Amino acid sequence: MRIAIISDIHGNLEALQTVLADIDSKGVDGIISLGDIIGYGPDPVACVDLVASRCKWSLMGNHDFAVIYEPTNFNKAAEEAAYWTREQFENESKRDREGATKRWEFLGKLRVRVSMGSFLCVHGSPRRPINEYIFPEDAHGAPLKINAIFERFENICLVGHTHVPGIFTSDNEFLKPVEFNSVYQFVRGQKVIVNPGSVGQPRDRIPLASYSILEMKDENTPECVHFYRIEYPIQPVVDKIHAIDALSNWLGDRLLEGC
Ligand code: ZN
Repeated sequence: MRIAIISDIHGNLEALQTVLADIDSKGVDGIISLGDIIGYGPDPVACVDLVASRCKWSLMGNHDFAVIYEPTNFNKAAEEAAYWTREQFENESKRDREGATKRWEFLGKLRVRVSMGSFLCVHGSPRRPINEYIFPEDAHGAPLKINAIFERFENICLVGHTHVPGIFTSDNEFLKPVEFNSVYQFVRGQKVIVNPGSVGQPRDRIPLASYSILEMKDENTPECVHFYRIEYPIQPVVDKIHAIDALSNWLGDRLLEGC
């Protein structure tokens, strides 16, 4: 069984379409989304509709929460983007009531935590599923935090939120995909945290869309996880962001830098 994991799309439709086409070309049994479908990017409505139609389910990320409910601890650019994003959903509601009802239902039902056999899936961390970041530098720099987080799950934890792909091991290491040739073999009895990276706003200085595919015999027998990076048309997304006043230019520029 093969399950694709996507996360942190952030309204980047070009990146999402490219990733979905790549997933289709590899063949999977299902796709799951770890949240932050929207926020920052210029195509929130289209991204939500695509995730609703293509994914088994999506989690609630902090940016999804900000748009549906309210922004908490956001900087000015992120808060303005959240309000602009909400406006796009409201405008679309006036245009197509029926579509909008379905869309709000989908958004209203996003869960903060999903258990799937050996896997616990959250956007941020098992302690604070919407908002807590598990940064690569925490592996060495905040061992108490990492240890406390590892106590909160049994087997394998899937997270997004930092937009940095890689694996946290229980002996306080963070491994980038390049360190294990982009395929990590799970070892029975060894806990790990897996972050597939971000589809729509990578932040590891590599401006390529990131996602993963899990391989397992069944949900209780995980085998390995593959990490993929793919090119997508960035410039059209940057141009769209630059043309929208409420979205800071920086939100476009950072896509070119992967940061
Ligand atoms: Zn995010």
